[in-house]
Amino acid sequence: MAQTPHRPSNGRHHVVVIGAGFGGINAVKKLKDADVEITLIDKKNHHLFQPMLYQVATGVISAGEIAPSTRQILRHQDNVSFVNGEVTDVNIKDQTVTAELDGAVRTYGYDSLIVAAGAGQSYFGNDHFAEYAPGMKTLDDALEIRSRIISAFEKAELEEDPAKREKLLTFVIVGAGPTGVELTGQIAELAQRTFAGTYSNFGSSSAKIYLLDGAPQVLPPFGKRLGRKAQRTLEKLGVDVRLNAMVTDVTADAVTYKNMKTEEEVTIEAATKIWSAGVAASPLGKLIADQAGVESDRAGRVSVNEDLTVGEYKNVYIVGDMISLNRLPGVAQVAIQGGNHVGKLIEAKIDEESTANEAEPFEYFDKGSMAVISRFNAVVKLGKTEFAGFPAWISWLGLHIFYIVGFRSRTLVALHWLLNAFSRDRGNLEITQQQRVARNVIDRDLH
Ligand SMILES: Cc1cc2nc3c(=O)[nH]c(=O)nc-3n(C[C@H](O)[C@H](O)[C@H](O)COP(=O)(O)OP(=O)(O)OC[C@H]3O[C@@H](n4cnc5c(N)ncnc54)[C@H](O)[C@@H]3O)c2cc1C
Repeated sequence: MAQTPHRPSNGRHHVVVIGAGFGGINAVKKLKDADVEITLIDKKNHHLFQPMLYQVATGVISAGEIAPSTRQILRHQDNVSFVNGEVTDVNIKDQTVTAELDGAVRTYGYDSLIVAAGAGQSYFGNDHFAEYAPGMKTLDDALEIRSRIISAFEKAELEEDPAKREKLLTFVIVGAGPTGVELTGQIAELAQRTFAGTYSNFGSSSAKIYLLDGAPQVLPPFGKRLGRKAQRTLEKLGVDVRLNAMVTDVTADAVTYKNMKTEEEVTIEAATKIWSAGVAASPLGKLIADQAGVESDRAGRVSVNEDLTVGEYKNVYIVGDMISLNRLPGVAQVAIQGGNHVGKLIEAKIDEESTANEAEPFEYFDKGSMAVISRFNAVVKLGKTEFAGFPAWISWLGLHIFYIVGFRSRTLVALHWLLNAFSRDRGNLEITQQQRVARNVIDRDLH
């Protein structure tokens, strides 16, 4: 028998929000004082600050510092209920959303829907690469990558065969966007600085780190000048940067790429491979686009109206990484500002005295882009202003601390960065038994 959709018993306007990431959480906060009842649904129990996942993956900070509990963040907001469950279906004609947690299924009826389910990794049709080259989108990914990296060093310590040892100490990062560049810089510092003198079977310069990208420069959104600076900084750290390198295969033991200039095929033997080359919007995007009769692009992003509604459905909004609108990039600020915007529009719609435009177009204010290359070194692009090095690094620190949710997390992260800047040690290099699954992959790969 079909379930009667859950609705708030007080009869208030019911807003269902899918996703407690940057877009969802900001929409919910914007509606704090509105006369609405909100159900926020997320498959994770925490709000993840993705821009710092690479620091979890390389042991600088702990997982909890960038993933505060969603319930705790919203503890002081009375008009929101949090549901920890995965949305498996949305029906925009019936105005229902179905969520599931470990077999428990519940359907919610809504008056307004905000979809902010973000994006996952894309392997451009080669999903089998994922087993050997995990992406970095979730805490699980970051912890698994940390385990793979550290396990590779530990195995190398025991390996007598020089060829196998070299393979264990070879790390290939695919994708030279901000995530790939940041992760590469941190792996290089981990190998050369943190691990210096801690292994007896090999020296700190034994690790080989490759950064591959099919594009002709690193950090394409930052322009040629900053891209060149970032590349030089990585090369000074000993990273082998290979551009115009289109990856064609990833196996247990190796990565193969085609040099787009010379057509040459090159294979690099490596135990640890990490994928940061592409994104695909949540499949909920295509589901909704098909129902609304609007287009979704190859990355699954939905063509939304200027006010972030979908097709004729004026009560369905999409924000953040799932939208295709005016070539907006998939960055945190697009999601934060989009969440605030739709919160404002919903408030205007239900407030009968409001004279605000209920269909006001979304206008994105570009606050610039930044990426850290290594300790004390970053690149910043703010409109036409570009700078790099230490001043950029300080700006990055300040801004990221500002945007991390919660006083406690902010303080802990600031403290860990300070310690990391002046000490070789990192406080989060532990691998749990559970994460040793990754080590088993490496075991199997080598035999
Ligand atoms: C490693 C990494 C580094 C980055 N660095 C930067 C950076 O330096 N600067 C920058 O501006 N941007 C950066 N970004 C991009 C930025 O994090 C995203 O643009 C931003 O998170 C998008 O916000 P969102 O709300 O659309 O999605 P998200 O923040 O991804 O939130 C989506 C939420 O939806 C939930 N969800 C998904 N599907 C379902 C479902 N079916 N049911 C229930 N819940 C669901 C997820 O659990 C998640 O909590 C980075 C991204 C990554 C992965």
